[in-house]
Amino acid sequence: MTDPFRSLMRSVYGMGDRLLELAEEQEAALAPILEAIDDTAQLNQLKVLAAMQHCRLSDIHFAATTGYGYNDIGRDTLEAIYAGVFSCESALVRPQMISGTHALSTALFGNLRHGDELLSPVGLPYNTLQKVIGIQPARGSLAEHGVAYRQVDLTPEGGIDYGAVEAAITPRTKMATIQRSKGYAWRHSLGVDEIGKLIAFIKGIRKDIICMVDNCYGEFVETREPSDAGADLVVGSLIKNPGGGLAPVGGYITGREEFVEQAAARLTSPGLGREVGPTLGVVPQLAQGLFLAPNVVAASLRTAVYTAKLLECLGFETLPRFDAVRSDIVQAVRMGTPERVLAYCRGIQRAAAVDSFVAPEAWDMPGYDSQVIMAAGTFVQGASIELSADSPMKPPYVVYQQGALTWAHGKIGALVALDTMEKQGLLYS
Ligand SMILES: *Cc1c(COP(=O)(O)O)cnc(C)c1O
Repeated sequence: MTDPFRSLMRSVYGMGDRLLELAEEQEAALAPILEAIDDTAQLNQLKVLAAMQHCRLSDIHFAATTGYGYNDIGRDTLEAIYAGVFSCESALVRPQMISGTHALSTALFGNLRHGDELLSPVGLPYNTLQKVIGIQPARGSLAEHGVAYRQVDLTPEGGIDYGAVEAAITPRTKMATIQRSKGYAWRHSLGVDEIGKLIAFIKGIRKDIICMVDNCYGEFVETREPSDAGADLVVGSLIKNPGGGLAPVGGYITGREEFVEQAAARLTSPGLGREVGPTLGVVPQLAQGLFLAPNVVAASLRTAVYTAKLLECLGFETLPRFDAVRSDIVQAVRMGTPERVLAYCRGIQRAAAVDSFVAPEAWDMPGYDSQVIMAAGTFVQGASIELSADSPMKPPYVVYQQGALTWAHGKIGALVALDTMEKQGLLYS
């Protein structure tokens, strides 16, 4: 931290010396961890680059298509690149999938039929998926379509309960949904190796069970993806990691061709499948975003490590700890009180480029069962690969922070969030 930076932080945000000194002290210990993050980014950058070169990505792929979108070679090339990056047979990468939930829902509905069972061997799925599956009643859910659901919770230590998974598999089990990231749960995120072991176990019981991984927030955090560890389908959002902050909308489904085709028939229409779907000019942003994604994920990870380190030394409980092995970009911090959650989130908002002047409030978001506060001063609405913090407003008042398009901004954001708490007397105990 240089003197000019400190004095600008003082004049822009009125930040005091105590916090700046503490941050400087703590950062010194992070060098080896930050370096390891950069090594992973380097490898993933090479992977993305190789896929783009292999598919001969070119200027002509950046033209917009409209209407039906027949013969959209930009779209087809981008999908081939995704398949390459994820070492899969096939990929659907579409602006018509408007979020991670929509992509996951498309993969599930495309592959499940009346009478089938869906298994979650890793506990309760992400909030918005609960209505897709019908765990919470909702119009048009899988349950309404006659698809049954079984769940095996993680053990109290956060491990997979293999005995219970085996017992939960029936002749009707068609698909397993495996969530890599913690979501809004206080659990560790599953590593790719751990996911691979679980998939091998399930396939050992019945090898025709389709293993789908909800890869949201996980892309490029490790050097392997769940598809490198045996997943049949890997699904995520383009306004998270793989969009690199440039994708304005979209979702992806990649995996075994047969299962991706099933999803395509659901996304558009039986008989049309992947042949239609105009890209309306977004291919350049999706491709360039993918190109930047390894680096943006590294910035997010550096920010997460930095945030964890500072809050830990101030006595807060974090998950993961600053020096833990990571499998997603989410940093959870137990704040304990609504006042601290509010102050932290408002600080993240204060440090944003967009809407820095608004104070976020908790509200009833569609798909969530408690009020949620979201600090997201983002260029793309709701893009949580940009620095953002959110929290379901209920005990134990955990803030989930993720993203940062650049490390320089992530660091400023964490400092301003802590400064906001400090100014309200909520930081030091
Ligand atoms: C973000 C996320 C989703 C999908 O959420 P969208 O807001 O619909 O993109 C699903 N699962 C997990 C674990 C997520 O983090």
